[in-house]
Amino acid sequence: MTWAGRASGIGKISAERDRCVGAGQCVLAAPAVFDQDEEEGLVLVLDERPPVSESNAVHEAVWACPSGALVLQ
Ligand code: SF4
Repeated sequence: MTWAGRASGIGKISAERDRCVGAGQCVLAAPAVFDQDEEEGLVLVLDERPPVSESNAVHEAVWACPSGALVLQ
């Protein structure tokens, strides 16, 4: 990944953890970008500014999240 590729990116992904229900759909869709904490199973964002190569996976995660906890800006 070049610096330019990362700088253009796909935007910033964030998670509203108080809305997360721990369904794990985001981790299945984009395991390089999301994880779940071991205590409650709530989402953790591993990479707030994912590279373009993760675009499809991140959009799928946002679409698949049952609680609308993921926000891509
Ligand atoms: S898909 Fe949504 S509800 Fe499920 S773990 Fe990810 S952010 Fe939480």
